[in-house]
Amino acid sequence: MNSTETEISAQQIIAAMPKVELHLHLDGCLRLPTIAELAVQQDVNLAVPGHLVGKLCGAPVHCHDLAEVLSYFATPLRVLQTASALERVTYELCEDLASENVRYVEIRFGPSLHTNDGMNLHQVIDAVVRGWHAGREAFGLHGGIILCALRHMPPAETMVVARAGIPFLGNGVVGFDLAGDEAGFPILLHRDPLLWAKSAGYGMTAHAGEGAGAESVRNAVEVIGVSRVGHGVRAEDDPSLLPMLRERAICLDMCPTSNVQTKSVTGFEQHPAARYYRYGLRVTLSSDNRTVADTNVTRELLLGYERMGLDVPELAAMTFMALEAGFGEKSERQTLVREFRLEMDQLGVRPASAAIRE
Ligand SMILES: [Zn+2]
Repeated sequence: MNSTETEISAQQIIAAMPKVELHLHLDGCLRLPTIAELAVQQDVNLAVPGHLVGKLCGAPVHCHDLAEVLSYFATPLRVLQTASALERVTYELCEDLASENVRYVEIRFGPSLHTNDGMNLHQVIDAVVRGWHAGREAFGLHGGIILCALRHMPPAETMVVARAGIPFLGNGVVGFDLAGDEAGFPILLHRDPLLWAKSAGYGMTAHAGEGAGAESVRNAVEVIGVSRVGHGVRAEDDPSLLPMLRERAICLDMCPTSNVQTKSVTGFEQHPAARYYRYGLRVTLSSDNRTVADTNVTRELLLGYERMGLDVPELAAMTFMALEAGFGEKSERQTLVREFRLEMDQLGVRPASAAIRE
């Protein structure tokens, strides 16, 4: 078999593999025709014809920084101020994920960003949870919703969001995240409400080591006690951090296209996912934003294979790591481990190392 055939075969295997996605933002994943349609329905003037909506919410491949990437969420957020719109886009995202053979997903969003037209946080979360339940049932998904607090908002708002999610915890909502401008607003500003959320039973994660350095990752893990870090790209800036992350089995949910876009890393070839994985850290790959980053989890896995030095057994091992680190119902994740094992076997994939644990 020549190298081209080998490559095609690996790509086909990656496309067919059962997948897990732990890190994607609802407002960054809208279908472009849906944005255009919702704008017409809601009488929102996007200032461009419907077929050019992509220009408003697709961030360039190389942005100046994370803050510039975040500016591309403004357009989708304008049409996500009603319960029916939130329910619809959550359902559609489930359909899109299932078409890639994603079987376990955690969809995150910031409830505070959807209250501009009068919905309260309960109504906002309820709408997304309804979309999730409808979508997961229709398309056979497992997982749940992660609520995001936002770094630039007052800590009191983080507390309000955490409290608003409590009625849905265990019934659609599984986790709590801190997102937004990492360089401008350190996680310690939100220390008290995040510790409260942890004690209330949310699975805890935070974006860290993306727009700021290793100290931010350390604070997320050591002070807040998160079990998962969103990205963590810059963890290696402080070599003493890596043994701690390995010892505590902290999972890094990395999103290569987005990490290049935000300049957390200079290019795919320099991305630390393979280094971290081989060092013994838990690493998973996700899309972050299907629309804003113009990607999906299949493409991220392919980038891992084609440009980041990861082979198919390693990508498969990361899939099992993701199942293990998920915040959703443990018995469901264990069932998926067994299903994935069989399906990987049928595809001729032997996951690397001892990543499979039940
Ligand atoms: Zn993210």
